[in-house]
Amino acid sequence: MIIERPGEFESYGKLRIYRPVKVLELDGTGADSDPNTLVYSHAMLADTALRTAIVVPVKDEELVKLRGVVQAIPHPSTVIVVSASRREPTDVYRDEVDMLSEIHRRTGKRIIATWQRDPAWGEALKGTPLEPLLGEDGLVRYGKGEGMLLGALLAYSMGLDYLGLIDSDNFSPGSVLEYSLTYYAGFLAVESELSMVRLKWPYKGKLESSEIPYLRKRGRVSTVTNEYLNAAISRRRGLETIIVETANSGEHALTTKLAVRMPWAGGYAVEPYQLVSLLERCWLTLEPPCDDLEGAVEVLQVETLSPHIHSERGEEHIAKMIGVSLASIYWSRLATEDLREAIREKVVEAGLQDVPSMMIYPPPGETWPNRIVKAFESNSELYTVLG
Ligand code: GDP
Repeated sequence: MIIERPGEFESYGKLRIYRPVKVLELDGTGADSDPNTLVYSHAMLADTALRTAIVVPVKDEELVKLRGVVQAIPHPSTVIVVSASRREPTDVYRDEVDMLSEIHRRTGKRIIATWQRDPAWGEALKGTPLEPLLGEDGLVRYGKGEGMLLGALLAYSMGLDYLGLIDSDNFSPGSVLEYSLTYYAGFLAVESELSMVRLKWPYKGKLESSEIPYLRKRGRVSTVTNEYLNAAISRRRGLETIIVETANSGEHALTTKLAVRMPWAGGYAVEPYQLVSLLERCWLTLEPPCDDLEGAVEVLQVETLSPHIHSERGEEHIAKMIGVSLASIYWSRLATEDLREAIREKVVEAGLQDVPSMMIYPPPGETWPNRIVKAFESNSELYTVLG
């Protein structure tokens, strides 16, 4: 793979955010690096792939999409499917596991599957700092962020160094391969053990019933979140910035070390909150992950070659996403009072009553993941380890 060499960046205390770089070639075999590019061989990428878990959150998606995503993830990486799919009246989780078993049987791919609502997670999390993950029924709450956090606990407890997230509602397996390769290349391009790679797309599209395909340059939610997050930074800094271009990046990866030192947001606030919390903790104050860190936390933004083609969700979903995304800024120390007012107006304009509340879970820390996962594994009847 060839990517542009990260260059220009902005520093926010101990946080360094690079201007987006581009993927230049998916396969750069035979090319030479130069001052502007970085070339990674198959062997280098495969070595990083082996140290990576790719977490795939899924909730009631068509099996064919999940299959395409899982099969497109490079063989050396461990796939962790965290499912919140229904089990009644039909057992979709069972179908997912059977389908994953079949992939494993034919390819030998290492795949882990867990059900987010497994009572064994409830038992394992009780009495730990992550108990707030549990709802009144004693089970882990629904929500993409909650699912991702379970995936992060599993990846860390397996001793893997990197954690990549790839949504299961993706119609294009080829793009999934590119996302994975880009994560590996991104981690090779940065220096810090606490780093994050966030992807943006040249185009984004949904499969709609319209006969004329229409690919947007920017997503409808990310345009808004990027604008308000940049506005929040600009106001705090007294200097305008447009550095954030990946506020809602569902496709992102982080070192597992960073994953356990950061707080996590529930639901769809999870992606913007990562940047918000890093800015709060590494710039405005010095809290984990930045409290005892000499170097910087690095955030690399990369534009892929592939467009992102995923499922159409409708206006209500967009409004909800805008609400929770802006809530992550609204409730943070980053937002000034006038920005809070502007956010409130925007959320109402999007069709919501008010700025939604949000769930924030504390950093899991370095010892809890192993303890929680051990307790979970010994108790679960649904946990599936293939390979
Ligand atoms: P968008 O693509 O960002 O508009 O949001 P989606 O609704 O498509 O969700 C992104 C991914 O998260 C998809 O793969 C969903 O199947 C998955 N997802 C959504 N809600 C949940 C949840 O509660 N738990 C888990 N584990 N995954 C979820």
